[in-house]
Amino acid sequence: MSFENLNLHPLILKAIVDSGYTTPTPIQKQAIPEILVGHDIIASAQTGTGKTAAFMLPALHLLTAPSKVHGRGPRILVLTPTRELALQVSEAAAKYGKYLNRVKVVSILGGMPYPLQNKLLSQPVDILVATPGRLIDHIQRGRINFLRLEMLVLDEADRMLDMGFIDDVEKIALAIPATHQTLLFSATLDSAIAKVAARLLKSPKRIQIATQQARLENIEQRLHYVDDISHKNRLLDHLLRDMELKQAIVFTATKRDADTLADNLSAQGHEASALHGDMNQRDRIRTLTKLRHGRLRVLVATDVAARGIDIVGITHVINFDLPKSAEDYVHRIGRTGRAGTPGIAVSFASGKDSANLKKIERFTGHRITSHVIPGLESRYKPRSDTSDTSRDRPSISRKRNRSWSNDSEGRSFSSVNGNRCNNRSRSFSRDNKGNLFRNSNSNPYTSIK
Ligand code: AMP
Repeated sequence: MSFENLNLHPLILKAIVDSGYTTPTPIQKQAIPEILVGHDIIASAQTGTGKTAAFMLPALHLLTAPSKVHGRGPRILVLTPTRELALQVSEAAAKYGKYLNRVKVVSILGGMPYPLQNKLLSQPVDILVATPGRLIDHIQRGRINFLRLEMLVLDEADRMLDMGFIDDVEKIALAIPATHQTLLFSATLDSAIAKVAARLLKSPKRIQIATQQARLENIEQRLHYVDDISHKNRLLDHLLRDMELKQAIVFTATKRDADTLADNLSAQGHEASALHGDMNQRDRIRTLTKLRHGRLRVLVATDVAARGIDIVGITHVINFDLPKSAEDYVHRIGRTGRAGTPGIAVSFASGKDSANLKKIERFTGHRITSHVIPGLESRYKPRSDTSDTSRDRPSISRKRNRSWSNDSEGRSFSSVNGNRCNNRSRSFSRDNKGNLFRNSNSNPYTSIK
């Protein structure tokens, strides 16, 4: 199927050609026809699947016919969990709507000055992209007239639920005319989302796209065992000196850590800046613009701030701290490998991360391969790869987790459970605890439980 078959307005098709898209993605193929005939939809689709265009193209198509209601208020309302995602949606609207006659897109985001927003809202608006909290403020002050509203889009609804915005979303849905069409996009369609959908959508068509596994196929996931913060810092410095790394996002657990790490990296000579929710909007936008234009190589960010970033130049994502939730892991690593390019996601894990790591691997259905960098090996004894196998029947082939890497001189070497080994034939023995170990290597960390 091509875009021509989707019955979109020719001026929208022209903008699609300019974007370089040749075929619609699966979510676009399935969602666009349903949206164009006026159905509500509930779609499970993550960032990276082309979901923004899946709702923005038919939304723009709807704007090619004049509104049946006289007024200046928005005809399309898109709610997003974060400011970054809202800005990206606004950019998509401008990009795909550039040949349409004066489509006015307004973003209403938390952290931005009210006077400017008041002014923007007093003028005609076609597409309003907003974060729920700030929009509620304006609705309560009577600044928005929703009489023209035809479509409500809930983007990353699961995230809005996680972030506690769903009450605001429901209040907003009550403030708009009942006749609108609703499109709900969510990475996961669990029972909590189903309940929201039952309240806000009318006989929705359900669209389910890629599984987590399929979506991550072009991203190589690596694991480095770490001992302590100083080990992490040395590893990170090493990884960032790799010439293959064009741009990276490094994730930390806290805003403070993001600031500290960005400062340390800058002191080490890396081009690094922090991005987190405590920064004012202007600084956040400035940092993101630098990243987008390739003028910033390393962004050190927290989860909330990095959500929705879509920059093809990001070759690496580094989890300096492993995320608490498996969903966040998927979102984080999805910042690389954009638009089908290859990406590398590196995670640092210490002993206390092992439960979390298992949770992530269960969620993605993918076992993350451990890597070692010569001279930066971990003292931490890597996890067993045999949690699901019997200790009584050791099977070397099943228990090894071999990966291949290149050392600093470009020589290829293999590692087993994260430990470098020379590639000679070797025999295995058991120690007095029944752990299997390799005779040819005196490294104590090569034992395999
Ligand atoms: P999204 O899932 O909306 O975050 O989009 C992910 C990326 O895919 C963005 O960089 C889009 O520009 C790109 N994209 C969207 N639709 C297509 C398409 N049909 N063909 C190629 N790239 C696309």
